[in-house]
Amino acid sequence: MSIPKAIEAVQKISTKLVALPDSEEYNEIIKSYYTELERELRPACFLTPYSPGDVADILKALKPLLDSPVVAIAGAGQQTTPGAANIQGGITIHLRNLRGIDIDEEHKTISVGAGENMGHVYEKAAAMGLGVAGNRHARGGIGGEALQGGLSYYSYSRGFICDGIVNYQVVLASGEIVDANAETNRDLWIALRGGGNNFGIVTRFDFTAFPQGQLWGGKVYYFESSFPGQIKSLVDYLHEPNPDVDVHICLSLGYAATLGSTVCMNDIFSLKPEKPKSLELFADIDPQIEQMKTLRVASLKDLTTEIFEGAFANRVVKMTTTVKSDTNILEYAVQTYHEAFKELKDIENILFSLTFEPIPIYSVNKAAIKRLESEAQSNNVSVPYLYLNYGFPHQDVMRSYGSASLDHLRKASSKYDPDGFFQKAGAGLFKL
Ligand SMILES: Cc1cc2nc3c(=O)[nH]c(=O)nc-3n(C[C@H](O)[C@H](O)[C@H](O)COP(=O)(O)OP(=O)(O)OC[C@H]3O[C@@H](n4cnc5c(N)ncnc54)[C@H](O)[C@@H]3O)c2cc1C
Repeated sequence: MSIPKAIEAVQKISTKLVALPDSEEYNEIIKSYYTELERELRPACFLTPYSPGDVADILKALKPLLDSPVVAIAGAGQQTTPGAANIQGGITIHLRNLRGIDIDEEHKTISVGAGENMGHVYEKAAAMGLGVAGNRHARGGIGGEALQGGLSYYSYSRGFICDGIVNYQVVLASGEIVDANAETNRDLWIALRGGGNNFGIVTRFDFTAFPQGQLWGGKVYYFESSFPGQIKSLVDYLHEPNPDVDVHICLSLGYAATLGSTVCMNDIFSLKPEKPKSLELFADIDPQIEQMKTLRVASLKDLTTEIFEGAFANRVVKMTTTVKSDTNILEYAVQTYHEAFKELKDIENILFSLTFEPIPIYSVNKAAIKRLESEAQSNNVSVPYLYLNYGFPHQDVMRSYGSASLDHLRKASSKYDPDGFFQKAGAGLFKL
């Protein structure tokens, strides 16, 4: 393995493709990662292709030189998992220069370059009266969502974000540029819908588009005494035989340092520009923190900009587990959250300190998730699936898909990447 040789090989194609440490572009890219855990990883260089042809040339140059996991791939670098889209001392192929959003009105598809962000897509689509199922975070990238599942306001009606991708344009490890859709390379198309960065570099995503006007929604903040009732309402909604699927509900609770207490928040949305009956229980909580409420009629771009406006995050440790919609296990999750939080509460708002003791956020989260999983197992409400976008490095996401799906992914990998470049040289956490 020779990283300097690999960099040299790409510089020979064009120096424009290589951003070395301390260059303006390198620093700009580092700053664009969402979490400090990704920002603090310093690759030997960023490779910044401008076209699928550049991606193909880069892969052809790298493949003979690299056979250990040193190549990371980044869309917009918004996944919080450390090492998902960047690598210390290795090479990160950053797709931010792969731009372009083209709307095909006749076929109701929107083709999006892998370096775009969802906010731009929503803006362009809205100008034509269209919508597209994408991230709830306007700054969010395309690839991480459309290759790893993807939750959106349309999840109840249209499934994962990847379910709306009618075609992926992919550069294989060989440098060949192929399409993957229901007719052409169908097995690859299926594998890419949740298989992450294991098969190639996707340079363009063709999304299904559909008519969409203004939406209704936003956030409602309230106190913890109402949370059990909200959990029950959520579980009741999820058990309804014919639920309203044109809505989106997300309940959270968290410690708010400014208030010195736990605060609850409902993120609720309707795909129509008015409050639907199905969301009344989640919107009209009494009492609530009125001055923080943001419910309104707005565009997809506006609503997804509101959610995560402001500074980029510091150190984020996000883990995932999946359970069935069962009131008891969700209440148990709240109890587990409080127990775990006791160990972390004092970390908040430290201005200056020096501690030679690891901050136990990782182990506290890990232990809390483990407790929740064993409780779910004993109550027969456990689900093995782990969500790729929210997984932490120790979590075995690919195996959580089940043996039949994993088998399909492995077969697709052997067929489309026979030398195993994306398994051996491809950095990242969730390999086959
Ligand atoms: C504030 C915030 C809000 C969020 N909201 C949502 C939400 O509403 N719904 C949801 O599901 N998630 C959400 N997430 C999670 C986030 O959107 C995902 O983690 C997503 O992966 C980010 O996309 P990205 O393209 O920036 O990914 P990156 O961080 O760049 O990459 C993530 C992974 O995808 C791979 N990858 C990316 N692009 C490509 C490509 N073109 N070809 C091959 N591999 C690629 C990378 O190698 C990496 O493994 C949110 C995250 C944040 C920080």
